[in-house]
Amino acid sequence: MSIVYNPQQYKIADKPMEPFIDSDEIWDILNANNAPSPEQVRAVIAKGLDKKRLSLHETAILVNTTDIVLVEEIKAAARELKERVYGKRIVLFAPLYVGNLCVNDCTYCGFRSTNKKQARLTLGKQDVIDQVVALEDAGHKRLILVYGEHPRYDAQFIADSVKMVYEVKSKNGEIRRVNINAAPLDVEGYKIVKESGIGTYQIFQETYHKETYEKVHLAGTKKYYDWRLTGLDRAMEGGIDDVGIGALLGLYDWRFEVMGLLRHVNHFEAVYKVGPHTISFPRIQSASGFEVDKKYAVSDADFTKLVAILRLAVPYTGLILTAREPAHIRSEILEFGISQIDGGTNIEMKGYTSHKEEQDLDHEQFEISDNRSLNEVMMELVGKGYIPSFCTACYRQNRTGEHFMEFSVPGFIKRFCQPNALLTMAEYLEDYASPDDKVKGYKLIEDNLANYEDEKFKSKLIDRLAKIKGGARDLYF
Ligand code: SAM
Ligand code: SF4
Repeated sequence: MSIVYNPQQYKIADKPMEPFIDSDEIWDILNANNAPSPEQVRAVIAKGLDKKRLSLHETAILVNTTDIVLVEEIKAAARELKERVYGKRIVLFAPLYVGNLCVNDCTYCGFRSTNKKQARLTLGKQDVIDQVVALEDAGHKRLILVYGEHPRYDAQFIADSVKMVYEVKSKNGEIRRVNINAAPLDVEGYKIVKESGIGTYQIFQETYHKETYEKVHLAGTKKYYDWRLTGLDRAMEGGIDDVGIGALLGLYDWRFEVMGLLRHVNHFEAVYKVGPHTISFPRIQSASGFEVDKKYAVSDADFTKLVAILRLAVPYTGLILTAREPAHIRSEILEFGISQIDGGTNIEMKGYTSHKEEQDLDHEQFEISDNRSLNEVMMELVGKGYIPSFCTACYRQNRTGEHFMEFSVPGFIKRFCQPNALLTMAEYLEDYASPDDKVKGYKLIEDNLANYEDEKFKSKLIDRLAKIKGGARDLYF
């Protein structure tokens, strides 16, 4: 990799990197709010429902709420806020692992350098084409490319692989948005990657607790907590204003991690006047040579609660829930504020063309629990009245920060997001669905059309749907 991190030398635009996470401060806030009264909890819920960002103290009040009745009220509020603000859309994507070489030694990851059992592979051009064709043939329009950290996977390599993906077109299929989950780069590196036309650049801090961080990241660039923590600041500096943060739950106390995520959001809002685009909160899974330590395991109940808390605390940010979770948990948690899920996920290297029944952990990063096809995931959503969406319109119209707009611009969802979700769903139904699923899908579209009172707009939408039936593609508002 072109970057050799030197903590003494590295500065962002001549400003020294100042870590903005203070463990003591976070624990002080958690402890100061450790026995909230029902009145306090309800006041915070009311503020969240009013679409106001919650402070660290207010979030700590929700995090420390254990009374079952009040927790149900938090969940009900998150459900209401999601429905009120975002409606019933769920954006679908798939991960594509480009290379699993890695110089780091993250104890929990199958790709760690000390794991000699892991079969190492980097996709060549034809491999990328084959994987993307398979993904497009399943109906995908949005991918996240995933990379280990290795000198081979420098900024140029990442940019080249993004361009390769955009070039692949199979039948009516194409990938319209490529997001990235890769190692932090330097500012110059981000500029190169931005040029390739990426959507979001995701970096998960894994744990915001520095002591724990240092215990689980044993070698390579990733062992430097501050370098990683400021990774997305450099992305902003390099012109990537669409970033995703995350914490790997199970390394440390989840309550601390939720506060860390929120502190990270506060930092972004304070410095760049815009928060991150997405937040991820994967629960740690078994991996080749790694068993999950139960000490900090997050129960299903706490997991649901923390999703609801994040929804209320950061109402304008997209929340991502991946196939690490089993199907039943995903279905259950969806309603508390999730905006994006993956479908038809396969994280084995070249996995989209190998069609293996069972996971082989020596060929992949960790265990996943939801092995359903994209179609199965879609049709479950449809059955529950959700609108699966492959929309990429904002990104391609340069309307960045779409979650923020959805949230803050009155009528934005009705005029853009919802109709675009219906249009991309119609494309899916035309190109990839069985006759039965097509009937179910179009029924959902009809039901949603009935909600449009603006007849002029409705007729435009109906017209575009008809054009899609007639073979037109990629129509959006
Ligand atoms: N190598 C880059 C990095 O570490 O930032 C990017 C890709 S890494 C393959 C993507 C994410 O997978 C990591 O940030 C981590 O949160 C997650 N991950 C790693 N091991 C995991 C495990 N055992 N269970 C669940 N998620 C895991
Ligand atoms: Fe490498 Fe990322 Fe895995 Fe760490 S989490 S070992 S950096 S692939």
